Amino acid sequence: MDLHLTNKVIVVTGGASGIGEAIVRGAAKEGATPVIVNRRRERGEKLAAELKQAGHSCLFVQADLSEIDQCQQAIQKTVDQLGRMDILINNAGVNDGVGLEKGFPEAFMQSLQNNLQHYYSLAHYALPYLKKAKGNIVNISSKTALTGQGGTSGYIAAKGAQLALTREWAAELLPYGIRVNAVLPAEVLTPMYETWLNSFASPEEKKAEIERRIPLEQRMTTAQEIADTVLFLASDRSSHTTGQHLIPDGGYTHLDRAIHS
Ligand code: NAP
Repeated sequence: MDLHLTNKVIVVTGGASGIGEAIVRGAAKEGATPVIVNRRRERGEKLAAELKQAGHSCLFVQADLSEIDQCQQAIQKTVDQLGRMDILINNAGVNDGVGLEKGFPEAFMQSLQNNLQHYYSLAHYALPYLKKAKGNIVNISSKTALTGQGGTSGYIAAKGAQLALTREWAAELLPYGIRVNAVLPAEVLTPMYETWLNSFASPEEKKAEIERRIPLEQRMTTAQEIADTVLFLASDRSSHTTGQHLIPDGGYTHLDRAIHS
């Protein structure tokens, strides 16, 4: 299926690693121009260089999105260099383990700054360009917004708010024809996920235990499967889909546990 994404400028935050990287690679394959917005320079520059060498169009913008002014600059640099912006994929985030017991209010607020503030700031600064392009937004949230995880109040508050904002922005932006949707990954083996697995005494055992509980094929979802869902939602093949929360997770979050016990 042709997703009609050729020449679309797609800003992907956290685009140098994990799920974001898979979205960037998928967008490039579709003929779009992905913009990798990332904190660490090395990985983003390397990926951009690799894609350009393979004949794709791509831009790397270094930004620490926990700073509001850097969010504004990231959008400005994109438009200055590429002349337009069509799609915003809010994806950057870090599960920083600021819990109720092992945490404190200042750390909680900092977690929201790192995980939530930039979803709003980027959408705000991108809006004039999204209006012009009749573009759309995809917010990457998490199944933990629905299930909880324990010990990570800041991250979960951000992930839950991203779902609420998806509905709120879908409503607010109806007059402009701008669609807003969310994708909720569950278990995807990325650098962030590996860090979490490594916090267990036996990471391999923990991974196998989780995989056994995933109803469809007893395996993790791949980053590419998440990217495919995101790009489909971002494309005009989803032209009447807005305010939706999609959960590509092999049935992990919703299917009855008894089916697979
Ligand atoms: P990842 O591999 O750690 O990638 C996250 C990327 O975001 C990194 O490149 C990181 O850059 C960037 N980033 C984080 N904070 C940033 C900031 N303040 N400014 C700029 N860049 C920043 O993680 P991932 O697993 O792909 O996660 C991507 C998204 O999926 C997140 O929103 C996460 O909540 C969600 N998710 C993932 C899973 C999963 O199973 N993996 C499950 C549920 C939800 P640096 O390395 O430079 O910090």
